[in-house]
Amino acid sequence: MSKRDYYEILGVSRSAETVEIKKAYRKLALKYHPDKNPDDATAEVRFKEAAEAYEVLSNPEKRQRYDRFGHEGVRGAGGFGGGMSMDDIFSQFGDIFGGAFGGGFRGGFGGGGRQRVIKGSNLRIKVKLEIIDILKGTTKKIKVNKLVVAEGVEYRTCSTCHGSGQVTRITNTILGQMQTSSTCPRCHGSGKELSKRPPGSNEQGLIRKEEVISIDIPAGVEEGMQLNVRGKGNAAPAGGVPGDLLVVIEELEHTHLKRNGQNLHYDLYVSFIDAALGASAEVPLVEGKAKIQIEAGTQSGKLVRLRGKGLPHVQAHGKGDLLVNINLWTPQELTKEERKLLEGLRESENFQPQEDHSEKSFFQKVKEMFE
Ligand SMILES: [Zn+2]
Repeated sequence: MSKRDYYEILGVSRSAETVEIKKAYRKLALKYHPDKNPDDATAEVRFKEAAEAYEVLSNPEKRQRYDRFGHEGVRGAGGFGGGMSMDDIFSQFGDIFGGAFGGGFRGGFGGGGRQRVIKGSNLRIKVKLEIIDILKGTTKKIKVNKLVVAEGVEYRTCSTCHGSGQVTRITNTILGQMQTSSTCPRCHGSGKELSKRPPGSNEQGLIRKEEVISIDIPAGVEEGMQLNVRGKGNAAPAGGVPGDLLVVIEELEHTHLKRNGQNLHYDLYVSFIDAALGASAEVPLVEGKAKIQIEAGTQSGKLVRLRGKGLPHVQAHGKGDLLVNINLWTPQELTKEERKLLEGLRESENFQPQEDHSEKSFFQKVKEMFE
């Protein structure tokens, strides 16, 4: 799936100022807004695409990363997997169209009525993962302290707005009567107010409760990625929809394996006797072990690639590799006998280093492996 360039989507140049980007996005958002294009799937795609492009380009830090690394640099920027939900987009509108318009816009979408759907707030938690969890994917059961609707709570129609969620004010001006509406200050637009407040609950009828939530984590996630578990955040009062649970991934370091994207690195130490004569050695994998052959005459710094023994990609098939870096171990202490044996070899012609046989640098080899 190739993604379109964000600048191209918004139709602005790469040096466009923030004001220009905002303007371009506002135009596209109005053009492709779902209310204006009901049942038009293409318009919806354009609408989301524009929102994502704006999300990145309007943020100096994300824009800089995008300029340097492309889509890869901002992966996960607009929600997990890069896709933004309609809710994300509409919450962005406050910024674009100003508070009042943003609210009205949101209410109009999918509605008909003027009542606003009240959404609970999002909760954010961190989840620590072992490398094995990243290899295979996992389900974590996590205790979350969140707001839920208290038992026995009752709501009645809001006495201020009579359930409409809006209050209208008529003012007399020299041009005649002016009518302005705004969100009801008592019910915040839900059209309902609390009629029975159970002990311990807050003024919205919500109470804190610990809940165990089961979270499915796909294989291949990375440090800092954010999973969005819809509807598992704080509850909303008066029949609103709960917020989301945002799960931030934290990677626990493995004792031996170092991660580099989908690849893993392992530093293997062998004696120069094994390197000279050849031997077999054991390498730890995320799961289990592998045997590798050290060929006679192996130089320090040789890289051995174990294909497919790395980590999966969260959005693609296939796995990375395990790169084994072979290091020669030089003994730190020697007995008299050992010293004597080695002294006997010191002047031997085969033991003199030959420059033209020297190994390329580690980074040169890693680079070549990916060319
Ligand atoms: Zn009200």
